[in-house]
Amino acid sequence: MPLPYHERTHHCGELRAGDVGKTVLLSGWVYNYRDHGGMVFIDLRDRGGLTQLRFNPETDPKAHEIARSFRSEFVIAVRGEVVSRGDMANPNLPTGEIEIAAHEVDLLSKSETPPFPIEDDIDTNEDLRLSHRVLDIRRTPVKNALMLRHRITKTIRDYFDRHGFADIETPILNKSTPEGARDYLVPSRLHHGHFYALPQSPQIFKQLLMIAGMDRYMQIARCFRDEDLRADRQPEFTQVDIEMAFVQPENVMQHVESCLAEVAKIAIGIDVPLPLPRISYADAMKTYGKDAPDMRYEMTIKDVSEMAKKTDFKVFREPLDTGGVVRCIVVPNGAEMTRKETDGLAEEVKGIGAGGLPLVKVAEEGGKIVLQTGIAKFLSTDEIVHDLVEATGAKPGDLVMFAADSEDNVCKYLGWLRETVAERRGLIPENEWKFCWVVDFPLFGYDDETKAVFPMHHPFTSPKDEDLDHMKLDTDDVPPTKDLLKIRAKAYDVVLNGIELGGGSIRIHRHDVQSKIFRLLGISAEEAKLRFSFLLDALKYGAPPHGGIALGLDRIVMLMGRFPSIRDVIAFPKNAKAICPLSEAPGPVDDAQLKELGLNVVKSD
Ligand code: ASP
Repeated sequence: MPLPYHERTHHCGELRAGDVGKTVLLSGWVYNYRDHGGMVFIDLRDRGGLTQLRFNPETDPKAHEIARSFRSEFVIAVRGEVVSRGDMANPNLPTGEIEIAAHEVDLLSKSETPPFPIEDDIDTNEDLRLSHRVLDIRRTPVKNALMLRHRITKTIRDYFDRHGFADIETPILNKSTPEGARDYLVPSRLHHGHFYALPQSPQIFKQLLMIAGMDRYMQIARCFRDEDLRADRQPEFTQVDIEMAFVQPENVMQHVESCLAEVAKIAIGIDVPLPLPRISYADAMKTYGKDAPDMRYEMTIKDVSEMAKKTDFKVFREPLDTGGVVRCIVVPNGAEMTRKETDGLAEEVKGIGAGGLPLVKVAEEGGKIVLQTGIAKFLSTDEIVHDLVEATGAKPGDLVMFAADSEDNVCKYLGWLRETVAERRGLIPENEWKFCWVVDFPLFGYDDETKAVFPMHHPFTSPKDEDLDHMKLDTDDVPPTKDLLKIRAKAYDVVLNGIELGGGSIRIHRHDVQSKIFRLLGISAEEAKLRFSFLLDALKYGAPPHGGIALGLDRIVMLMGRFPSIRDVIAFPKNAKAICPLSEAPGPVDDAQLKELGLNVVKSD
């Protein structure tokens, strides 16, 4: 009689010393096999962990004989007695105090030799692992990532359920929802020449649900963006999508931070102090050089434009004369950096557009602070040295790195330098978790190439009430760009350790404001009607003030689980070329299918 594997009594990570004497039935994969002079030992593995099995030729010759034919990754079921390992206990294994004296065993399925070992630390290249993802997921770190992801999504769903949010699905076959990326298109078989767009986000539908009176919505939603892939991007990814009616930014932020604190508690085991700090976009840019500040370390950006005005240094004077700024960061003990290191940084910062990397070392001579090397000769007077020290707090042994250019560029260069230097010099404390909110984003950004404004968040984001005047709502005029760029949005991003976890906003709930925003964005009335008539119509029938946010679930799991890549926390990820190495999607389709869809493929070479 074969063993009734469906009557499994325990999983392989479960048995302890207290279970000694029990008869148990386990099943799983052969993790490893050792033949010790007749006695066969097998570590049996399933999702729960490992349990050692012992096959004794004296007492259980039949089971022993069968076990001798087993190899790695064979699937087996075993019945036996839990016995103590006594002095041979393995303290590194949760089940290490016991083993199973196997009395009966069945082979359920054989396995070929796997292309890489199913072990925790392997240096197998990622493409090979992903093309055999089934075997890869059997490895503990990958399995743990998926289990952590499950626990995080469960915590999130439970949080929002407790607070009255309804989990509602929105369509996948859509009209385009703009979030600033290219759409994935699906051809319609019934309407040749027409295409669905896969959602870049459920944005418009969740707004429609608020207008429909659903009050509080949440969805763990798959989103699709056809972007050029970067290291931590995937063409399809998952958002925790939230929308609430009758709210201001604070209401959304309070729920999100409370939920994230619960997630951090179960994932990392830390208590996140609430409320999270809030910093305006303008201050984040000034102090950290980016809109997702990493607050785990200091080395903040200081403005030294006043000091720079007192010098004759052309590199400082020219930008100042054309409305630019001079700012710097102080690298603690940076004077010890080698010429090779600083020259390397100079080359890299040039790579992102800077003219160079002016710097000075701070030293002490005869009880007096002096500047050395680099551009020291341009900062020679006592007054300038005093001003620099006063503005920056630089101490002997420090290194000051400057940037002089337009404000935007200075933020870009110093933001990059701050992060890069902190990383390379080991200034980022381990085990620090610094969350913050960035608020008051500008409503529009400006594209130098197209010479037009674009939405910093998306076109449905509400301006701040006090900045509405800049829009000239009561006229058809398009106000000057400089006025538009002054408008701040009711938008907010939540950031962890310098990485954006998500962003959202209060939405426009007035038809006239939404129409004007489309116009300011260069979307004509006809085009707006074609693309968004269903939203514009809904806004005419009583839209409550509403707002929400979307959080990147993959990123949250990656960061909180300390995984290096987003691919580590997705069961079947795409690679950097947007290909699924396992199924090899995307693939060609046959001519009959194309004909049915009314498509002709232009072959590229
Ligand atoms: N739909 C936005 C996004 O995907 C998030 C939001 O505004 O709620 O970024």
